[in-house]
Amino acid sequence: MFQKVLIANRGEIALRIHRACKEMGISTVAIHSEADADAMHVRLADESVCVGPAPSAKSYLNIPAIITAADITGAEAIHPGYGFLSENAKFADIVQAHNITFIGPTADHIRMMGDKIAAKEAVKEAGIPVVPGSDGGVGSVKEALKVAKEIGYPVLVKAAAGGGGRGMKVAKTEADLENAFKTARTEAKSAFGDDAVYLEKYLGKPRHIEVQVIADSHGNVVHLGERDCSLQRRHQKVFEEAPSPAINASTRASIGKTVCTAIKKLGYLGVGTIEFLYEDGEFYFIEMNTRLQVEHPVTEMITRIDLVREQIRIAAGCKLPFTQKDVKFTGHAIECRINAENPETFVPCPGTITDFHAPGGLGVRLDSAVYSGYRVPPHYDSLIGKLIVLGQTRNEALMRLRRALGEMVVSGVETTLPLHLRLVDNPDVQNGDYDIHWLESYLAGSRKE
Ligand code: ADP
Repeated sequence: MFQKVLIANRGEIALRIHRACKEMGISTVAIHSEADADAMHVRLADESVCVGPAPSAKSYLNIPAIITAADITGAEAIHPGYGFLSENAKFADIVQAHNITFIGPTADHIRMMGDKIAAKEAVKEAGIPVVPGSDGGVGSVKEALKVAKEIGYPVLVKAAAGGGGRGMKVAKTEADLENAFKTARTEAKSAFGDDAVYLEKYLGKPRHIEVQVIADSHGNVVHLGERDCSLQRRHQKVFEEAPSPAINASTRASIGKTVCTAIKKLGYLGVGTIEFLYEDGEFYFIEMNTRLQVEHPVTEMITRIDLVREQIRIAAGCKLPFTQKDVKFTGHAIECRINAENPETFVPCPGTITDFHAPGGLGVRLDSAVYSGYRVPPHYDSLIGKLIVLGQTRNEALMRLRRALGEMVVSGVETTLPLHLRLVDNPDVQNGDYDIHWLESYLAGSRKE
């Protein structure tokens, strides 16, 4: 096992990884920007190295500085967390080239899944159902019109290099397509430096259901069930739960088996998430994330498996300590993402947290790196914490969530806590009766409170 791991991230996820390391007897090295010198992940780590000024491009994305930090501290492995360099194949290559272990899949798998066109082709080949759409990329408006006619409107133009919901445009009719195609391409070029796009059938009322998989280097592949992340704003998840209120044990076992077979065929290593849209009883693959996800705690809560610990063990060459049969799903878990944002306009609200009180009690987990007096910097994403609850039933989880949200105090900055308090009392949310478009229409005022 590693003696020392460098955590190439910040915020709650850096802390999450630090916690797993400490419980395994591993020393931690934090990296940080000048703006994060007082951050909790820096305070708690055994060692820390400043890797550059506030902007991410100069610090958390600064590969030479991060490699140097690992070198001078003697870290044997790097955990990239999520975001930043976690899905950067070049980074994974460079880490390995320096004889440091990258805690994650191989660079080739990251590269394959990072190109959504290649990913779709690869998983389809491996037996996973995909959203109907273009065969590969679409290079011109003329071609787009032809493909759209075949698959039928509405269609979605998506960026091959997409992420974070960017570079995605809907065309409801033929008249919209030229504009959608051009805007998606421009957005993709400016966000990812790559204007390759493809077309998909736009699904009208799907849920977002994703399957967590884990694979070791000894040929063992296990799925850890699904997460339902249908409550989204601008294609970004806001509230996640496991299990999904929309599927039963036999559907879970069947999609889990399909995913495991495919993952084995692909020779994938580490943790990964296969994201699907689920509509009228059918699963349609949209993408694979080759990293730990923000919402991984809901899976941990219902399986009692520490995903970060397993990631580290797998990277060190250990075998999975469980088989599919050992994985038992108990209870119901819900996660709320709490952002320093105005709960109505969603405008980020950086600033100093003047007062902070964390909720507690049975079945309550708060993954956060903030504290009273902490200044939320304006340079990074606005996530300040994730509140996760576990109940024996979905109803108990909802009651517990309302109770925990009510206990939580964050003063000095605006947060999305009031939105979550409204959601937990909403009858559709209580009934699990929502799709990926529900939250947007709720926020637009066209759903009942
Ligand atoms: P990103 O990588 O930018 O997050 P994804 O492909 O994962 O993009 O899609 C993000 C979200 O966009 C999905 O969870 C879903 O809400 C919506 N979406 C993606 N593809 C489709 C589709 N074909 N039809 C309808 N909604 C879609």
